[in-house]
Amino acid sequence: MAAACSTCTGCKLAKTRNKVVVGDGPVPCNLMLIGEGPGADEDEQGLPFVGRSGQLLTQIIESAGIKRPQDVFITNIVKCRPPENRAPEPEEGEACRHWLDEQLTLVKPKILVLVGATALKAILGKEKAISAVRGTWTKYQGIDTTVIFHPSYLLRYPSKEKGKPKWLTWQDVKAVKSALDLFDQAGS
Ligand code: URA
Repeated sequence: MAAACSTCTGCKLAKTRNKVVVGDGPVPCNLMLIGEGPGADEDEQGLPFVGRSGQLLTQIIESAGIKRPQDVFITNIVKCRPPENRAPEPEEGEACRHWLDEQLTLVKPKILVLVGATALKAILGKEKAISAVRGTWTKYQGIDTTVIFHPSYLLRYPSKEKGKPKWLTWQDVKAVKSALDLFDQAGS
């Protein structure tokens, strides 16, 4: 699947990308994170969430005890970088969707974390503010699913004060870790 995806020409992003960013992590994996799309660093390295916002995301999940890459499979709604770091267009997300569906089938996550508004819209069809839905859980295709702030948002609001986005995300990621522990215990 990764080899086929790496040569995809399914939308116009193929013309401007350097590397296709398929995903990172074990397959299968109980936990899957879905972001928006690769930025410049990801496009260069071919790995998701390795730039500034990716480093923050990694720091937050690791401080909750979720190790990268061992404990989490990470991917994005679109696998190629949208130019100028714009959000992916809906048609680009749709053209790329079959890769994500294939990843869900292969990774078989028990817990799905949607990172930011683009993933929320693409997966759950909800055009809501993250602040309105974070901290809640729903089922997507039978998978326990939650939503967190995108780390690029947290970079703009760096306060760690109680009740602020960064603090809330820390609570949300700890809840994800607790849910993951329950699945890991059940499976061992
Ligand atoms: N932002 C995303 O949504 N995904 C990445 O892979 C990197 C930055």
